Amino acid sequence: MSADHTLVDVAVVGGGQAGLAVSYYLRRAGLAPGTGYLVLDAEERGGGAWQHVWPSLTLFSPPDYSSLPGWPMPLTPDGSLPSAQHVVDYLAAYEARYEMPVRRPVRVRAVTRDDELAGRLRVDSAAGTWAARVVVSATGTWRRPFVPRYPGMELFAGRQLHSTEYRGPETLAGQRVIIVGGGNTAAQLLAELFLVARTTWMTLHPPRFLPDEVDGRVLFQRTAARRRALAAGQPDPGPTGSLGDIVMVPSVRAARDRGVLTARPMFTRLTRHGVIAEDGQEVEADVILWCTGFRPDLAHLAPLGLRGPDGRITVNGTMAVRESRLHLVGYGDWAGLASATLIGVGLNARAAVDAIVAQRGASASPRP
Ligand code: FAD
Repeated sequence: MSADHTLVDVAVVGGGQAGLAVSYYLRRAGLAPGTGYLVLDAEERGGGAWQHVWPSLTLFSPPDYSSLPGWPMPLTPDGSLPSAQHVVDYLAAYEARYEMPVRRPVRVRAVTRDDELAGRLRVDSAAGTWAARVVVSATGTWRRPFVPRYPGMELFAGRQLHSTEYRGPETLAGQRVIIVGGGNTAAQLLAELFLVARTTWMTLHPPRFLPDEVDGRVLFQRTAARRRALAAGQPDPGPTGSLGDIVMVPSVRAARDRGVLTARPMFTRLTRHGVIAEDGQEVEADVILWCTGFRPDLAHLAPLGLRGPDGRITVNGTMAVRESRLHLVGYGDWAGLASATLIGVGLNARAAVDAIVAQRGASASPRP
């Protein structure tokens, strides 16, 4: 082996909540920080995507339903739903509490097979190269915002923003804003923008609102029931209300009570001054705000040639079916039920580490 790399048993790529949850279980399994496992994270600071979301974002679940394994998220001082900053603070404290070996800022450029590395995967970054027995990819979706293609996009003279670029209602005050998307992001941004801007909400399908009493807690309980059924070999009860349905957080309820939560069908194309609605009429706009979601950030895995036409990697549990040295945690339900949620990622992280430990043939005796 050439000496241009450092040996490590498990390299975790990504240090948001998913990477930290994996790190927690690797530590519990007795792997040594640094040589046994390490976390490579592209950010300057801890907190993953939560440090980049718009300032007013609050979770749709209370702290006890938004916790990573081992250490519950602290309550908010006034009992309100946690803010994004509360999550960032929690993740930073979590990382410090368990002395996680996180290297920052380290963006992994490529994970490759390398015949010279005796069965290990090569993990390349500008800050160094590692030869890992196992790679856990936990890079999330934030850096891959998705905007669908519509005719006339290049003609529109106003601004087109993805929700990742939105910095608060004051930045769009007084403007004519078309909010696109039928999920929680669109509903929450509409709920704060209609107060200061002239908003139109457009969705591909009629939005689905959860009953007022159903918050993130109920959704997670349903997910847990679904997981139990599947684990017991019972038929999949299916999502009865999915995480994509709109949770009636206080601001969204207030918008509904003011009669604002009315969506129009999606426009057919953009024009210089706005969009052509389904009824053929032009709706003028200064801004199109795309709340149209994300795709998994898997560019660093491209050399492994594992992605299907849908851009995803087929997994069994968390392990890539065509590369047993690679696990995926986070991202979305396709990588494990509720894997892209604070409370759901722990179970997926534990499953990944159990599988890794079994693969290594080592015992998973917990550290005190
Ligand atoms: P991220 O937080 O994105 O972390 C990934 C990390 O990997 C980042 O630090 C990134 O810089 C790093 N990275 C990426 N590529 C590389 C690379 N090549 N090399 C090294 N590092 C890399 N969940 C809930 O449970 N409750 C909620 O209320 C909730 N609300 C949400 C609201 C919004 C608007 C969004 C977008 C998501 C919400 N989620 C919620 C879902 C989910 O919890 C978050 O998306 C969460 O950030 C996902 O965590 P993650 O660790 O998988 O990814």
